[in-house]
Amino acid sequence: MTDRFGRNITYLRLSVTELCNLRCRYCMPQEGVCKKSHADMLTEDEIIQAVEAAASLGITKLRITGGEPLVKKNIVSICRRAAAVAGIREVCVTTNAVLLPKLAKPLREAGVRRLNLSLDTLNPEKYAYITRTGDISAFWAGFHAAMEAGFEKIKINAVLVGGFNDDEIVPLAELTKQYPVDMRFIEMMPMYDSGDFDSSAYIPYTRVLEKLPEVVPVMPDGGVAKLYRLPDAQGNIGLISPVSAHFCGDCNRIRLTADGKVKPCLHSDVEYALKGLDFAGMRAQLEKAIWNKPAWHGDLDAIHRSQAGRNMNQIGG
Ligand code: SAM
Ligand code: SF4
Repeated sequence: MTDRFGRNITYLRLSVTELCNLRCRYCMPQEGVCKKSHADMLTEDEIIQAVEAAASLGITKLRITGGEPLVKKNIVSICRRAAAVAGIREVCVTTNAVLLPKLAKPLREAGVRRLNLSLDTLNPEKYAYITRTGDISAFWAGFHAAMEAGFEKIKINAVLVGGFNDDEIVPLAELTKQYPVDMRFIEMMPMYDSGDFDSSAYIPYTRVLEKLPEVVPVMPDGGVAKLYRLPDAQGNIGLISPVSAHFCGDCNRIRLTADGKVKPCLHSDVEYALKGLDFAGMRAQLEKAIWNKPAWHGDLDAIHRSQAGRNMNQIGG
């Protein structure tokens, strides 16, 4: 279905939980989340019904996210059932990789085609700092399990944080020489109470290009990333610039939170509730959400914070 600005909405980001086994500083508060009542969250059957309703409106691609989607007990079943919905051509998962040693194969067998794995630094101490609780060896164990499980594509996502990982842009980018993966750098977005980074932490994607003068541009693949490649690399470098150069005019996505709210725009607090509705009710709410998708997300920077009304773990990125 197209929205009122003529954008064809084909991509649903589906958050299955707000909970996480890490506490990344730009994403969620140290104390974690105030666990909502089970009764407020979508059940597995409601999630699948929402996917069916979305598919009936032209959604073809699903990304399962969170919080950390792999802490959800029934994640394999959700992925399997979502992948089987008529009209859904692609199911992808975004994860911090920690639980992949156990789950990579079952997810692949359930029909998940692609994985995005989050890694902001190669340094164990810095990884422990940015995730507040994480152990980088758990990331690498998950990464290798994913490589062995035969996914069609693996991408690594790093959030760019000035003064933290801008000195690692070259070694992170060189992962594309070592492995057949894409490396993506994402500008940090100022969510409402996620981290107290000062303005110097919000660096533009152009900083990556300054550090990698030898990259050559690659034709876009239909996604929101600007693509480049290092000589002799096995994968691309993707630059995602929601802050310095927004791509709202090409946005083809909507989001569904774990508590059943459709968000037509990541950075707006306008939400459409699906919890408790039947197929027709969910479809009508999704239709309204798509039609009313705003033209753009407004200014975003250290002073103009996101108007999402939620932190990233409650939306899904
Ligand atoms: N837990 C999973 C993970 O970390 O991959 C999935 C959920 S996480 C919210 C999805 C993506 O959002 C991750 O790549 C994460 O780095 C990114 N993210 C979280 N907070 C962000 C922020 N403030 N700005 C930009 N990206 C952010
Ligand atoms: Fe958890 Fe992902 Fe947020 Fe990190 S970015 S706290 S892993 S949800």
